Amino acid sequence: MALVIAVANQKGGVGKTTVAANLGIGLAREGKRVCLIDADPQGNLTASLGHPDPDSIPDTLATIMMRVINEEALPADIGLLHHEEGVTLIPANMELSGLEVSLGNAMSREMILKEYVDSIRDSFDYILIDCMPSLGVVTINTLVAADEIIIPVQAAYLPVVGLQMLIKTISVVKKRLNKSLTVRGILITMVDYRTNLAKDITTMIRVAYGSSIGVMETYIPFSVKVAEASAEGVSIYRYAPKSKAAQSYSNLTKEVLCL
Ligand code: ATP
Ligand code: MG
Repeated sequence: MALVIAVANQKGGVGKTTVAANLGIGLAREGKRVCLIDADPQGNLTASLGHPDPDSIPDTLATIMMRVINEEALPADIGLLHHEEGVTLIPANMELSGLEVSLGNAMSREMILKEYVDSIRDSFDYILIDCMPSLGVVTINTLVAADEIIIPVQAAYLPVVGLQMLIKTISVVKKRLNKSLTVRGILITMVDYRTNLAKDITTMIRVAYGSSIGVMETYIPFSVKVAEASAEGVSIYRYAPKSKAAQSYSNLTKEVLCL
């Protein structure tokens, strides 16, 4: 039975997609069966895993969710792509924005993704969902489908108001739609050791959000190699195995596995 983790923050560009890709491949390297779901019409996760033109992919998360909405048959492997580093990818493209509209009229519209995710839980150990930078109905679907949330936050920027909105949304989802949802932790990304003291930022986040939300022990450093790896369609472990960034994503993987 897979553990389902949503990587979410409605603030854009905080490292969600990069975390989903490198944590997912990190878990696969530890022998886990991993499915990565791209839940962003920008298709950045899809592109960063070797599909530079997501809009040319015929079957995506939107296809799957549309079939669930219409109660149509779902062939077992529809939409599933396989990445050379051992993860399964459910891609996304701009069709997912259209789906956001279709969901508006669907019965139990917040539960559509959960219905699908629950149907594939037995085939994986981890299912990671890369959320789009908004709190619209597709993102609510991811929070309903998930067991846990990791919230990447950019170290250089303290988005206090934005995070409060996310936390409020999570608590409403928890109350009304998914009682077992938990926040695994805030993950501080893009730490520049020359200008930021990661410890100070952690303290500031703890002061701002109280002890109710944990902060992951691992920090992700700022590294151009991370962006370069995405451009090559591979993980940081393959692109720059000896880098500090690879070491950090590997530490994050171990933290998630509780090793
Ligand atoms: P969006 O909200 O648009 O989906 P996101 O939160 O998914 O964005 P990413 O796409 O992962 O964020 O990262 C934003 C940009 O920062 C990308 O160009 C990415 O390559 C780069 N980036 C991500 N992590 C790091 C890092 N640790 N060091 C340097 N650059 C990074
Ligand atoms: Mg993204």
